Amino acid sequence: MKEQLQQICTEYAMTFLTDVPLSSHTTFHIGGNADFWIEINSIQGMRQLLQFCKKQKVPYFVMGRGSNILASDDGYRGVILHLGNDFSEMQTAGQNKILCQSGVMLSNAAKFAADQNLTGMEALSGIPGTIGGALCMNAGAYDSEMKDIVISCEYLDENGEEHVLNSEELHLGYRHSFFTDHPDCIVTSVMMQLHPGDPDQISEKIAEYASRRKEKQPLNFPSAGSTFKRPKGGYASQLIDECGLKGYQIGGAQVSEKHAGFVINQNHATCADVLQLCRDVRNIVLAKKGYLLELEPVLLGVQAGEFSCS
Ligand SMILES: Cc1cc2nc3c(=O)[nH]c(=O)nc-3n(C[C@H](O)[C@H](O)[C@H](O)COP(=O)(O)OP(=O)(O)OC[C@H]3O[C@@H](n4cnc5c(N)ncnc54)[C@H](O)[C@@H]3O)c2cc1C
Repeated sequence: MKEQLQQICTEYAMTFLTDVPLSSHTTFHIGGNADFWIEINSIQGMRQLLQFCKKQKVPYFVMGRGSNILASDDGYRGVILHLGNDFSEMQTAGQNKILCQSGVMLSNAAKFAADQNLTGMEALSGIPGTIGGALCMNAGAYDSEMKDIVISCEYLDENGEEHVLNSEELHLGYRHSFFTDHPDCIVTSVMMQLHPGDPDQISEKIAEYASRRKEKQPLNFPSAGSTFKRPKGGYASQLIDECGLKGYQIGGAQVSEKHAGFVINQNHATCADVLQLCRDVRNIVLAKKGYLLELEPVLLGVQAGEFSCS
């Protein structure tokens, strides 16, 4: 299987690596080795890989920047299909629209939009992920979310067939999309509708949101951003704080003292540390406040049941 994957990658000039530490490719800096890692650089190459994986029943996982992923200490037995720098073209598409390949970082897309005097991405610019990951998660911040600007996307399904979805068909909701329900599908490009704006004001807003993040978030420690989703009728960080859990620690994982909504990798944390910490936080918040918190990061290689409810 390794030889065949390597052959496809050679044919399409895609980088192919083996035994790649996920800790080096996730913002949490946690995770054992993935068997195979491929840098996707074209739709043709992606299609060949998907068809191969389907035929040979090889598991695969689509990864962008790895900023919303908690990877197992045992790593991943399969192929990571990475969409990053090799898949990051951007272009204007008329009528204030921009079209981005899915490996483009949100910060770069926002900067590109600003360079075209287009507003609408400022609040999203500090989210440290790719356009593909942001669409999958319907990422959002400061009362803005991908849903507000996305008008369509292109993707390949597990057979390597190309499709287009419009904004309604994307079923974008709170940290949810068509792609959270269909993890075998890969977003290849996203079309976004922006609006004409003043370049100075756009740049000022981007800088303002960046400084708000710096002030409130523990950006000097590895994390996956907010660890729990916002429960109906409450705020996870407030509930955790009110339970006195800031600074609560298991192994190297800690509830940030700066922002209770973030679990940070304070000192060489393992995935097991983070899961145990999250279990404890969830049980304490449930007992004291009556809210059941749900994890926000996507679990990679973690066995179902490892984060069960008791
Ligand atoms: C410091 C920090 C701050 C953060 N702040 C925010 C915030 O304000 N708001 C917010 O919403 N999130 C935030 N996050 C979380 C994270 O940055 C977002 O969820 C981001 O959109 C994930 O993008 P990614 O490229 O890193 O995706 P990944 O983490 O690599 O993947 C996330 C999910 O998307 C899927 N995916 C990735 N690319 C594709 C693709 N091309 N096609 C199909 N599926 C794909 C993956 O399979 C996975 O299920 C923060 C994270 C950190 C570390």
